[in-house]
Amino acid sequence: MGTPSADAVRRHPHLASGIPRGWVRVDCHVHTMWSGDATTTVDELADAVSDTGIDVICVTDHGTVRGALEIENLAVAGRFPCRVVVAEEVRTSQGELIGLFLSERLPPRQAAGEIARAVRSQGGLVYVPHPFDPLRHCLARSRIDELVDAGLVDGFEAVNAKTSLAHLNEQAAGFGRAHDLFLGAGSDAHVPAAVGAAYVEMPDFSGAAGFARSARCGRIVGHHSDPARPWAARIVPSLGGTAAPSSRARASGTGAGAVAGTDAPKPRPGEQGGPPHSR
Ligand SMILES: [Zn+2]
Repeated sequence: MGTPSADAVRRHPHLASGIPRGWVRVDCHVHTMWSGDATTTVDELADAVSDTGIDVICVTDHGTVRGALEIENLAVAGRFPCRVVVAEEVRTSQGELIGLFLSERLPPRQAAGEIARAVRSQGGLVYVPHPFDPLRHCLARSRIDELVDAGLVDGFEAVNAKTSLAHLNEQAAGFGRAHDLFLGAGSDAHVPAAVGAAYVEMPDFSGAAGFARSARCGRIVGHHSDPARPWAARIVPSLGGTAAPSSRARASGTGAGAVAGTDAPKPRPGEQGGPPHSR
């Protein structure tokens, strides 16, 4: 475990407490610029990880594993400051699901059950993000019940740092425990400063099965943290090309492209919709 900086502890005070020897901190839900609704570069993510002392991040970009694979390769080569789980937050035709421990991209816009089977066929874990949050692109409760009854869910996100209503996280944790799922937690970071807002402290692990076993005896840590994004989602370069957005394009807000991300909040009842930073 690395030592968090004073700045990181100021942002996320729980980072100051230690963990048992042989345990690791795992942020199960992190986005990068490959998500389309985040601009965090590999270097920025590396700095954020070093700053917090997080041991493992699950890179859960929307609809792609390209960034996750690249960062994992860097980590394996010792050129990234923590271990990486290749993952993807995928928009099924019925709501969002995360596959953890993937080797390739999941098919988009298929039924949740099909996606869950695709995750399993890669040897991955099926993880339900921000369950029950009406402001996110969630699977309906009935759909979750179907998946769980079919044995197609491994884990449940018990703390999502962007979920502002504590009772939604509590409801998710209760459901996960009641159905014998592993409980995960993550920052859902779309900006570097959010990394470390939530994570699981667990005995160190190896591979997907080891992760699920360890998480079952882990400890969920986190608080609400949803820093404003200093840009409008509509100007984030799309994933259509192969080149990363240049820092000049990002700084001037001139990148062309569509919004690929799916984490933009839905407007609350009686509220105008708008870009994420307008909340
Ligand atoms: Zn997310």
